[in-house]
Amino acid sequence: MGHGQRDSARMYLKTAIILGAFALTYVALVFFASSGWQALPLSIALGVATAGIGFNIMHDGGHQAYSKHRWINRLMAMTLDMVGGSSYIWQWQHGRFHHTWVNVDGHDSDIDLGALARLSPRQPWRPWHRWQHIYLWLLYGVTAIRWHLYGDFRDILTGTIGERPFTRPRGRDLTAFVLGKLVFFTLAFGLPLVFHSIGAVVLFYTVTAAVAGVLLALVFQMAHLVEEAAFPVPHEGSMRIDTPWAIHQLETTVDFARDSRALGWLIGGMNFQVEHHLFPRISHVHYPAISRVVEGTCREFGVTYLEHRTFAAAIASHYRLLRQLGKPTITAPTAPARVAELLR
Ligand SMILES: [Zn+2]
Repeated sequence: MGHGQRDSARMYLKTAIILGAFALTYVALVFFASSGWQALPLSIALGVATAGIGFNIMHDGGHQAYSKHRWINRLMAMTLDMVGGSSYIWQWQHGRFHHTWVNVDGHDSDIDLGALARLSPRQPWRPWHRWQHIYLWLLYGVTAIRWHLYGDFRDILTGTIGERPFTRPRGRDLTAFVLGKLVFFTLAFGLPLVFHSIGAVVLFYTVTAAVAGVLLALVFQMAHLVEEAAFPVPHEGSMRIDTPWAIHQLETTVDFARDSRALGWLIGGMNFQVEHHLFPRISHVHYPAISRVVEGTCREFGVTYLEHRTFAAAIASHYRLLRQLGKPTITAPTAPARVAELLR
């Protein structure tokens, strides 16, 4: 596997296709759309292309999985800044906190939506969580807007991501952060306002961001927020987790629809999250081949390999998990446990 883990020709082609689709829909929406009925499908398509950049380009770049050259990885990671998120903060939030502390409450900010949702049995229950399996799907649409307009700025000002402190950007990183925000706000609001009314700009920005937010949440939540995944706890004080690193990743991560090549292409191999969590620095185009080896090895050593056969099965499991966590009776035991086990 030494040769060609990264810098795959397929990735460069794919990047050109997705960035091309993003540019085309953006130009058509901002410069050519003359009615709401033209702008609506174009802003939906732009939301899909935005999510496509996240799944396929920036995620590999941010994990150093795109290229052996640091500057190419950095450039690809910075496509996130263009579409409204800071690649610097992502590096901390996703690259470090999420990947190290999968499904650990207080550390993994992917499972932290504040009081709005209860995404782990260790989070406090609030009465409105009873309906989270219904309202959360809509709320996922707001997550990208919150990220664009609030999240990164809050993190920079407070010096924390969720509850965890991080090193604020300085020097070149700070310059890149500011430039990234300028580019995004110019693309999302500045330029469109030259040609369209403020109402139209806000409306179609909201559509684009909501589509991207729902798609990103659906794909990323299906990997860890399903009934089969565990919610481990670290030792109090020492911040250590008893389970070995690889086992922790395997117990908290679930693949889905491994046989669907089309889905895998569209979502940047994020249906192979088990493989991604074990080998985050390998380009996602290699996950299908790796997954057979991982599955075989797990079977050989009697370790569970979690997967859903289809995307629909993963979504159904996410729905059931949200409904279970919405019940006050589901509470955290001290040992790592799956929600399905708490029910017994
Ligand atoms: Zn990742």
